[in-house]
Amino acid sequence: MKNHPTAPFTVSVFDVSHRIGEERSVRLDETLPERWGEGVAYVDAGQTVSVDLSLEGLHDGILVSAEIDATAVAECVRCLEPVDIPVQVEFQELFAYSPTEELEFSVQDNHVNCEQLVRDAVVLSLPFQPLCDEDCLGLDPATGEKLTEPRAQDGSTIDPRWAALEALASTDTTTASKPAAKKRTK
Ligand SMILES: [Zn+2]
Repeated sequence: MKNHPTAPFTVSVFDVSHRIGEERSVRLDETLPERWGEGVAYVDAGQTVSVDLSLEGLHDGILVSAEIDATAVAECVRCLEPVDIPVQVEFQELFAYSPTEELEFSVQDNHVNCEQLVRDAVVLSLPFQPLCDEDCLGLDPATGEKLTEPRAQDGSTIDPRWAALEALASTDTTTASKPAAKKRTK
């Protein structure tokens, strides 16, 4: 018998294979060798991803149910402070005993390899616009400090990111004067 190298997120299903109704649970704690996630939020290399797997032998394959637990990190998109994001996701997938066209995953050498499924589930759950707090007020463009109360809306301080838009809006008002558009008079 082939000596099976232990790939990450891969478990033996020998004891439930072809035994209909037979179930087994197994917990995996894997340390990531590389970062998961390309965006602003990601699970960093060296972090542990925990997976509670339940394996059930069915007629045509092994039903794998997984509950995943991990912690992603990100910068708040408003104030740039580091944020820890708890990741809790699940998936269920049937691994066929023999590869078929309908089923993407199959049992290989009496093992199921869940790495791609776990990774996809985690990465797809990561937020695109992570916030330290729903009500985060972001940074004061003048001082660069984190705001603790809303900035006065007197038009005297304009976020540099909006200044360009403001300029565009101003050129729009050459014919009709829009009372809502604030001119920068300062
Ligand atoms: Zn924030």
